[in-house]
Amino acid sequence: MANETKIIRNDGKLLSKFYPNGFSPTTLLSKLDNNELYFVYKHDNIDPYYLLLKYNPKNDEKIEISYGPTGYPRRIDKRIFNGNDNKLKLENIILRHEQNNFSVNKELLPVDNVPFNESLDAGQLTGLLIDYSLELVQKHNINDEEHDIFKFLSSHNIMARFKDYSQLIHSNAIVPDLSDILTVVNVSDGCGNDCRHCPEGGNLKLYSKEDIRSEMIKVLQLHIKYHPNTIRKMTEGFLNTSDILWYEIQKSQIKPDEIAKMFFEYFPWTQKLGTFFGVKNLLNVSKDPNFGNIITGNYLKSLYDAGINRGYVGIESGNSKVSAILRKNETYGDKLKALDLLKGSGIKTKAIVLVGVGESYITGDDEEIKSIDAMQDTIKLLENTSPYRVMISRYLPNENLPLEKLRKEGQLKDYKDKHGIQKEIDMLTKAMNWKNITVEQDYESFVVGKARK
Ligand code: SF4
Repeated sequence: MANETKIIRNDGKLLSKFYPNGFSPTTLLSKLDNNELYFVYKHDNIDPYYLLLKYNPKNDEKIEISYGPTGYPRRIDKRIFNGNDNKLKLENIILRHEQNNFSVNKELLPVDNVPFNESLDAGQLTGLLIDYSLELVQKHNINDEEHDIFKFLSSHNIMARFKDYSQLIHSNAIVPDLSDILTVVNVSDGCGNDCRHCPEGGNLKLYSKEDIRSEMIKVLQLHIKYHPNTIRKMTEGFLNTSDILWYEIQKSQIKPDEIAKMFFEYFPWTQKLGTFFGVKNLLNVSKDPNFGNIITGNYLKSLYDAGINRGYVGIESGNSKVSAILRKNETYGDKLKALDLLKGSGIKTKAIVLVGVGESYITGDDEEIKSIDAMQDTIKLLENTSPYRVMISRYLPNENLPLEKLRKEGQLKDYKDKHGIQKEIDMLTKAMNWKNITVEQDYESFVVGKARK
């Protein structure tokens, strides 16, 4: 049984042992023998989470486990000395990917008292390690609310949860920022555009009002099943569509603001609601018929008022010719205007930049554009508009994508420099750091395995 809250507002012994150079703001929640549980506060770009540290003095083994706000284990790590500098580093034993599947690094096993033998497959090991992480945290002497977060969890229901939720996200959909606190509702399939690099291109299908409602009810039922005590901690939402504005552009029976309002009927505790926006549609909906079709921010402000406060925009490149090769016919000026409009409405904008397509592009006029030069245009664009975040999307070659045809025809040249992609990323990251804009590097993990149908 859990006792009254006993929050000790100082570090336990283990935090300084594991992190001799200091750590983010934390509260020690509970302390057992060589086993301490902390709450880590939101800092930089990291959302709050629970952290368990376990130390074995007999063999100096240092284990740390992170759990999301709904209690789901996110990773188990070992702190070990490695690398050329022989410094204390974090090595990942088990990691939950954004796609919600786990990977296990067998080379770091055995760990603590988890039974291990070589014949166990990855699924069995994942189950054992998740149960181990939950048993450790469930032993802690924490307050009732925190005790309730962890009490129903087991490897069995965690695996079942991810399977059930993944069935609600279509296989070629791209969902950024997936986590155990994100409510994702599919509201359309495909896209009205057909960009050469994109697994979602073509075959746009907008849902009816009834279908959207039924998607929301299905997700709510899963939340009730898997998050009986933590549903209100699921404070982030995502309307999963290639561009929510298709509902306006295509004069659908239900409009984007009504979809957002419906979302809050079912998930009223949501604080951040995001969705994708396309540049052309952003410009089109901003033509204000009340003012002779001049561009105003009024339409987008109405979406912000309806609760959409995060906008993801795939700008891919600031170079207009590169965009045209990608069949994303939006110029530098279009993108700048669209991002400014979205930002001006109050919606925090995440601009997605594509890297890794090739070392250079050849235009129809036989002009060669080097990716590193195109990145300069991207940087200029982002510096001019200062989005809330920049997300890096690494291109994942897939023979079904039309872009690969261009490669075969010689219009795309592969990287000769094996560090070429990283150099572009570093250049972008450095420039954004100067502007205090956070760059998120792991967008590609949301796209892995996506394929055009
Ligand atoms: S990149 Fe965006 S606009 Fe282009 S096809 Fe994909 S979802 Fe549609």
